Amino acid sequence: MAIKDNLAAIQQRIAAACERAGRDFAEVTLVAVSKTFPVTDVEEAIAAGLRVFGENRIQEAAEKIPALQPLTGKHNVQWHLIGHLQSNKARRAVELFDAVQTVDSLKLAQRLNDLAGELGKRLPVFLEVNVGGESAKAGIEPSAALELCEQVAKLSHLELKGWMTVPPFLADADAVRPYFRQLRALRDEALRLGLADTQAKELSMGMSNDFAVAIEEGATFIRIGTALFGARDYT
Ligand SMILES: *Cc1c(COP(=O)(O)O)cnc(C)c1O
Repeated sequence: MAIKDNLAAIQQRIAAACERAGRDFAEVTLVAVSKTFPVTDVEEAIAAGLRVFGENRIQEAAEKIPALQPLTGKHNVQWHLIGHLQSNKARRAVELFDAVQTVDSLKLAQRLNDLAGELGKRLPVFLEVNVGGESAKAGIEPSAALELCEQVAKLSHLELKGWMTVPPFLADADAVRPYFRQLRALRDEALRLGLADTQAKELSMGMSNDFAVAIEEGATFIRIGTALFGARDYT
């Protein structure tokens, strides 16, 4: 199916989830996860109206983002890094991306802060939390997340936007709900304790199989790949 038809179907489901939760459709930003897909698909997605894209690998992003610059510049497109970032690739990440959703250590945050300062910009970031406590997954563990939040909020070249998680994959989307709630509870606690600016309220959670549940639980950024672009050969 064409990307614009997939998008229309997703938007209907977003609207329905918003209605169930008594939320405003405009509060939810769809991040189109274009990893593994060619620039022609990104062009099609931009034509369909999408303006925020997610990539998870620096090397792939370093080919796509500059190639699309003439078009993305014209349409004010933003690129979010949604994959794990190694320190040695941090400079390239700060050069390429408009936001990094995967900050999960103070060391990485400090490195990004230094680089953003050098490049004369303020970089929007999200804190990635490993809500499922899965050993193979990136993300700060929940018990250390508030401390990291307080520290990152003090870094002047970073703009702390909020929180991000990739919960355990469960075929039954409703079973993921407690993990989404856990991320929201961290956000609420950080705001209640005044650990970060009140702007740091975004919740990036929900993917193709569970975004409706994530919206019911307060997601403000949903990251959608498969439902928009189709199945991937690799992740
Ligand atoms: C690939 C990826 C997505 C999109 O997953 P789909 O199931 O294809 O929608 C979302 N978030 C992250 C961090 C990803 O790596």
